Amino acid sequence: MAPPPPEFELDSSLGDDLARVAQQLSAAGHVVALTGAGLSVESGIPPFRGPGGLWTKYGEPPMDGYRRFLEDPAAAWRERLSPRAEWALALRDTLAAAEPNAGHRALAEFERIGLLGCVITQNIDDLHAQAGSSNLLEIHGNHRLLRCLECVRRFEPDAIAIDPDDLPPRCPDCGGPVKGDTVQFGEPIPPDVLRRCYAEVERSDCMLVIGTSATVYPAADFPMEVLRRGGCVIEINPTDTDFTASATESLRGPAGALLSRLLDLSKSEAGAAA
Ligand code: NAD
Ligand code: ZN
Repeated sequence: MAPPPPEFELDSSLGDDLARVAQQLSAAGHVVALTGAGLSVESGIPPFRGPGGLWTKYGEPPMDGYRRFLEDPAAAWRERLSPRAEWALALRDTLAAAEPNAGHRALAEFERIGLLGCVITQNIDDLHAQAGSSNLLEIHGNHRLLRCLECVRRFEPDAIAIDPDDLPPRCPDCGGPVKGDTVQFGEPIPPDVLRRCYAEVERSDCMLVIGTSATVYPAADFPMEVLRRGGCVIEINPTDTDFTASATESLRGPAGALLSRLLDLSKSEAGAAA
């Protein structure tokens, strides 16, 4: 396992907290991870807000993206095929260059060894899938994929023929309009994903909340629901968030280093119990 990045030293009190959390993970029946933009910061994808954030740098993008798609899908597709807005170009290039980091890889390994049941992510960057997570619910979609607005089927980009003179492309199954899978501002969360999220949250007695300020609904409600049902919620974030006061445990630091260490401790814990 790679050592934590040099700029982050695990002090001894954090070591005790990590050991306790490793025990909680091993004892739990169904662990779910809820992840947000902070998890991908170490992959070079800035969050929207705060220092270095895309919105801080380029200003807020239009908040009515979905309404504009519905009003003129062909114009929205032309913008998707050749983006002009500076923030859209920056986001496209950043996403194309990003690779999974130690945090994504640790979560995939937690799943592989049976200690993690599901990842619910608010990220659209595809990095959990690239790291090997398989029970993955991308609540805000995936920037690589396309989705039919009628039947919600997802498509790989090359599965749909795109004719620039006949936009939007149509779903081969139901003929509905196809758009990018990323959930835009004002767009409802696709109902199939939302249903599966609630089913996972209902089963969960332990949730990891990683790199998210947990303020965007409906995701913000998932850890609260686990707490209401008597489960524990562990926050992993370098700074306090609005959720910190409610969390059962808060581990302060970057997700890559903390999840790597937690994985090592959990493997020792499982080895000792075997
Ligand atoms: P947010 O408000 O959830 O904030 C990001 C959180 O990450 C903050 O609490 C910050 O303290 C924490 N953080 C920063 N560095 C971290 C690290 N190394 N390890 C762990 N935590 C770290 O996110 P936002 O940027 O306001 O985004 C809002 C919405 O946009 C969310 O749905 C988000 O997932 C999405 N978004 C996705 C991506 C992506 O796909 N990578 C990027 C930007 C925004
Ligand atoms: Zn369809």
